[in-house]
This record gives sequence, C-alpha cells and structure tokens, in this order.
Amino acid sequence: MISYLPYPVRIDEIKVETEDGNLKTFKLVFENETQRKAWKHVPGQFAMLSLAGQGEIPIGIASSPTEEGHLLFTVNRAGKVTTALHQMHMGERMGVRGPLGNGFPIDTDMKGKNIVIIAGGFAVTTLRATLIYLMEHRQDYGKITFIYGARTPGMLLYQNELQEWAKRDDVDLHITVDREAPGWDGLVGFVPTIAGQVAPSPENSVALICGPPIMIKFTMPPLEKIGWTDDQVYLSLENRMKCGEGVCCHCNVGPTLVCKDGPVFTRTQVRKLPVEY
Ligand SMILES: Cc1cc2nc3c(=O)[nH]c(=O)nc-3n(C[C@H](O)[C@H](O)[C@H](O)COP(=O)(O)OP(=O)(O)OC[C@H]3O[C@@H](n4cnc5c(N)ncnc54)[C@H](O)[C@@H]3O)c2cc1C
Repeated sequence: MISYLPYPVRIDEIKVETEDGNLKTFKLVFENETQRKAWKHVPGQFAMLSLAGQGEIPIGIASSPTEEGHLLFTVNRAGKVTTALHQMHMGERMGVRGPLGNGFPIDTDMKGKNIVIIAGGFAVTTLRATLIYLMEHRQDYGKITFIYGARTPGMLLYQNELQEWAKRDDVDLHITVDREAPGWDGLVGFVPTIAGQVAPSPENSVALICGPPIMIKFTMPPLEKIGWTDDQVYLSLENRMKCGEGVCCHCNVGPTLVCKDGPVFTRTQVRKLPVEY
C-alpha cells in the first residue's frame, strides 16, 4: 500500500562530519513507539526526509538495521531543503517516510560471498550501514574489503568509526585521500588507483560501488582487468525523485523506475538503461 504520510521523528543528535561543515549526520528517533517497531530496512535503502514548509528529499539510510532505536542520515548541504535541515537543532521535529527502494542483496547474492565495498566521497553513507550490518553477521559472509576515499583527511566521514574498524582483523580496510596532507600518514591516491593496487579477487565475490560517476567509471577497468564481471558489481543510482514509490515517474530511465526498481542495480542492469548511464 502506498502511503505518503511521514512518521514524526525528533532530532536527537547532530554531528558535523567534515572540515568544511557541509556534511552533517542527523540521528533521528521516532516519536511513536509502534512506528519505531514497525520500521524495517535493509542497507542500501533510502527514505524521504520531510521538513514542514520546505519539502521532501530522498536520503540514503546511513544506519544499519542492527543499530536499533534510531535512524542516521548524513546530509550534504546542496540546496533548499538540505540547507534548511542543516539549520535545524537538536530536539526539533521533522518527518521520515520509508523505507524505500530495494537495498543491497544482503540475504541473496551477497550471502556466503567475499564482499568488496568501494566508496568515494559522501556516497559512503549506505555503505557504512552495509559494513556495520556485515560485521554484525560476520559468519554469513567471506572476506570483507572496504576501500574508501575522500579529497582530504578532513572530508572523510565517520572518522571515529574508521579508526575502530582499522583495529579489526576481520575487515581489510583501505582509506585514502586524493593528495598528501599534513598529519596524514595513510594511503594517498584516487579510489580507482587504490582499488587497482588492492586488486580484490573476483572469485566468489560481489562488489558494491558508490561514488561520483567519474570514480565509478575509472574503478571498473582495473577490476575488469583481474576478471570482475558486470553481474558481480552493484551500483546505487541517485536520480531526482519526488514520490519515491514508483508513482510519479520523476526518476524514470526508460521503463525503469530508480526509486522502486532501484536505487541498487547490477552493472549489467545499468548497462541496459538508455545512453545517459
Ligand atoms: C536514492 C537517493 C539517495 C540519496 N542519498 C543521499 C545522502 O545519503 N546524502 C545526501 O546528502 N544526499 C543524498 N541524495 C541526494 C539528495 O537527495 C539531494 O542532494 C537533495 O534532494 C537536494 O535537495 P535540496 O532541496 O537541498 O536541493 P535543491 O534546491 O533541490 O537543489 C540544489 C542542487 O542540487 C541538485 N540536486 C537536487 N537533487 C539531486 C539529485 N538527486 N542528484 C543530483 N543533484 C541533485 C540540483 O540540481 C541543484 O543543483 C540522495 C538522492 C537519492 C535519489
């Protein structure tokens, strides 16, 4: 059943994520206990965030379903609604509608396989949710490789968590920045270069890749060179959307509705879309 009614939520915490102040993570808690219990999402899904008098925007769910009691959304200040959200304070109320879209195939194609997560910039949000979910269900998956890059060290999201994940011996973590920077002794280089150096084996593996189109474009050749095929690669599309439920067709690409059929697609599926992709 289609419902355009958002759930009322309260902003419980706001964290400024990046040095430029343009990315903030909002921790939202449900006002209604029944609605909180009814909410079930899978990593890779998104929700519509609504601000009274401003509008509604699709934002990927950055929290894992295993982080119970709240939802996290990391939002880049881009325009009207995101700027209004950035101006809100703890304790204020807003709306959340969802969960929407399909999400990553955590219970099907990913189960029992080696998982390679490749993220660039703030597209890492739903991959954070995925990694936390995988770590909570560690026995269900093979080797986990996580490659994540940002322009500068100060533009990396979730910095405290990155440090914690780096201490684990069951996740192969590769964090990189575009250029040398004072105080940074980690990897330096663009995500595609690092992906080529890490060269994750395609055997019994699935890759989830989220980032700017240019990053995705240049990440594929080094993977293809070592045997990765389009069926093994999942991408998440970010078309403009309004209803989020496959009714208004704002997000359609040919017959495909990104909000409902996606936003997660295999690269094989993306290749079949009209030429803009
Ligand atoms: C499935 C999905 C998941 C998303 N997840 C996140 C997320 O986790 N974090 C996040 O910060 N953003 C995310 N976005 C993008 C976010 O929805 C847009 O940035 C937001 O709608 C802009 O709203 P606004 O009113 O602030 O901007 P507007 O005032 O509407 O526009 C400001 C500028 O942003 C451009 N813009 C608006 N929407 C999009 C879009 N979908 N793609 C590219 N450019 C756009 C406009 O052309 C304009 O240049 C996601 C989008 C989709 C479809």
